[in-house]
Amino acid sequence: MVQQTARAIRDDIAQGRASASDVCRAFLERTQALNPTLNAFNHVAADRALARAKAIDAQRAAGASLGPLAGVPIALKDNMSVRGMRTTASSKILDTYVPVYDATVVQRLEAAGAVILGKTNCDEFAMGSSNENSAYGPVRNPWATDRTPGGSSGGSAAAVAARCVPVALGSDTGGSVRQPGSFCGVIGLKPTYGRVSRYGLLAFASSLDQIGPLGRTAADAALVLSVIAGADPCDATTAREPVPDFSAALTGDVKGVRIGVPRTFMADGVDPAVLRAVDDALATLNSAGATVVDVELPHAKYAIPVYYLVATAEASSNLARYDGVKYGHRADDAKTLREMYSRSRDEGFGPEVKRRIMLGTYVLSAGYYDAFYLKALQVRTLLRRDYEQAFEKVDVVAMPTAPTPAFRLGDKTDDPLQMYLADIFTVSAPLAGLPAISVPCGFADGLPIGLQLTGRFFDESMLLRIADAYERVTDWSRQSPAI
Ligand code: GLN
Repeated sequence: MVQQTARAIRDDIAQGRASASDVCRAFLERTQALNPTLNAFNHVAADRALARAKAIDAQRAAGASLGPLAGVPIALKDNMSVRGMRTTASSKILDTYVPVYDATVVQRLEAAGAVILGKTNCDEFAMGSSNENSAYGPVRNPWATDRTPGGSSGGSAAAVAARCVPVALGSDTGGSVRQPGSFCGVIGLKPTYGRVSRYGLLAFASSLDQIGPLGRTAADAALVLSVIAGADPCDATTAREPVPDFSAALTGDVKGVRIGVPRTFMADGVDPAVLRAVDDALATLNSAGATVVDVELPHAKYAIPVYYLVATAEASSNLARYDGVKYGHRADDAKTLREMYSRSRDEGFGPEVKRRIMLGTYVLSAGYYDAFYLKALQVRTLLRRDYEQAFEKVDVVAMPTAPTPAFRLGDKTDDPLQMYLADIFTVSAPLAGLPAISVPCGFADGLPIGLQLTGRFFDESMLLRIADAYERVTDWSRQSPAI
């Protein structure tokens, strides 16, 4: 049962071959058995999930029409608000926070019949690349438990890879859906900025944040994206762009598709095993009928400084709301208002979040704003133009998702800069606002490797189509960890 894709589960339930309650119990059992090892979930909502599953079974028994995700268990990164369900962003400052409303993605998932199994562990406020910045401890990679699952949506990726859920949602600001997808051997899709509502997502960097699906097949990612995508009156940054049927794009055919590869940008610092796997994947796509050509992204080498200026600036502003007054942790016994603010924040935020608030405040302050923040915005525009120019020649840009497979827990915790540098391939798509996907494309010493494809604005269909065609002629996505 737990090996099934979301699509198969949905069909089995709709056609009476399985009950939503049995499906829910099977995934809950698996989750409860593995979570002590993986630490992928901050919270498992067993009773609520079983009650929802029972309601789906009752709907079916009554002959009511079922939604496209009816009875499909799903896990949500713990930075998405679910009414009445503790939502912490893996931060001590929100340790006891219980939202009073549902995020738009939650409303849409539940209206489609999805069953929320629980909230997944992540880096605190989604800041990190290894899940080690969580107040609740790191997540372990199901392929090798001494390794990181990636971050910040590490719990969502690990839960999908370990078959605790068929699909999950993560959020991606600079790679947080794609890089854990790559490290855990599952599909991770970051939609175009504005494709999916951020209403009810705890904000990190608002010009970059985007919610996206993780799953084991492109078809499952397409299914979930179709449900969560689309304009939302509660989020003015959502686009009015029509939402296509993403599943219909999965034709299995890549004939005539043009793939661009930024060779110069990929020349340094990439693990040879990763490069080999990516090259093999491109050769496979080429044999399937796609053309592969070189492209240049001349400004991509500045993506890390640009990202860490823009993201920290926005974070420092977004996180100002956690002041111990309206919600979240409040320090005891403060003598003055000022002391209450500063002690609440000091006790509530972890070291990485504090580092970013300080960095972001610094780059926004008078005298530094022009030199750092404004300059970063200018280079951000140049980066977007690089992609626009590439898309005159090609349909997608391909590169590795990450320069290495999953690294060991503890390997980069003493050196935040090394941790930041490992985001080199994932930060440019969100800076440009473009959709990007990570697709499993091989292994090195038993650790998964991901191929990243970046597409034109609102062309998630192309990314899913290529990913799906690639899955049909390879079997990476059918491998499962021995855990
Ligand atoms: N690793 C990047 C960071 O630490 C991206 C995080 C994310 O996408 N939320 O900011």
